[in-house]
Amino acid sequence: MTVNGPLSPDEMGITLPHEHFMVDFIGADSTGYHRWNKDTVIAKVVPYLSEARQAGVSTIVECTPAFLGRDPVMLQKLSQLSDIIIITNTGYYGAINNKALPATFFSQSADQIAEIWINEWKNGIDSTFIRPGFIKIAVPGDSVLSPVHEKLVRAAARTHLRTGLTINAHTGPDAPALAELRVLKEEGVDPSAFIWTHAQDGSQEVQVALAGEGMWISLDNVMVDNIDHYVSMIQNLKRHKLLKRVLISHDAGWYDVINPAQVTFRGYTAIFSHLKPALIKIGFTEDDWQLLTVRNPKEAYIVRVRELTVNR
Ligand SMILES: [Zn+2]
Repeated sequence: MTVNGPLSPDEMGITLPHEHFMVDFIGADSTGYHRWNKDTVIAKVVPYLSEARQAGVSTIVECTPAFLGRDPVMLQKLSQLSDIIIITNTGYYGAINNKALPATFFSQSADQIAEIWINEWKNGIDSTFIRPGFIKIAVPGDSVLSPVHEKLVRAAARTHLRTGLTINAHTGPDAPALAELRVLKEEGVDPSAFIWTHAQDGSQEVQVALAGEGMWISLDNVMVDNIDHYVSMIQNLKRHKLLKRVLISHDAGWYDVINPAQVTFRGYTAIFSHLKPALIKIGFTEDDWQLLTVRNPKEAYIVRVRELTVNR
């Protein structure tokens, strides 16, 4: 499901499964569409999207959630101007000390929160008719899940079962990822409906274990100067025959609403200019590359309910 409506998964092509165009870290109590000028942001972002298009990118999954700068109308314009297919999301961001969670979240149940997200799926975001293509949540990386963050994961799991939207969870290290797996299983969701985002901050041992469970391993902060770390993780997953569970992206961007002039915008091409040659050099094939950049993101973001089947 793109910002311009449904699309056949086979039309996605080369896909960057985790990027950002604009982020507003001011907090849920103060953010809103009044905080940025769409045209100014568009003028800044379009050249980077054109550069990605030149590198062969066809689809970008925009991972900025509500209360953190999600602007579906602006995404639609960016898609038209850049000729890139863009996917947006529903869900809430529970990292950065819960600052991006709306006040209502704390008194609502997991079912009530899921209802809000399901409504966006059915009717569109903020009366735009633009529908989300996945669920984005975030939990803190420093511990196992607190009750607040466990509720977030449960709401995402229940939304998945009612919509088929994949869950993309900003997570980081091993401990919260393992806790998320437990919650998914309790809720009856197959791990293949779940993306462990920022898995590059986890251990290779747990990357292999959770990929083995079917979870998507998102290695998503590729930069020109950290390629070796990514090569090592991807090579290890390939060695365990788990390349089919790996997603690679830059987690790049972005126009910072708080400091528009002070932040260096990071582009979306290091994967093609630096990571690909490094992998080819150690024996990766064009078919491996196709798997990483086309087939895996397609499979990960297909809208389909993935219920856990229990062997009785
Ligand atoms: Zn991100």
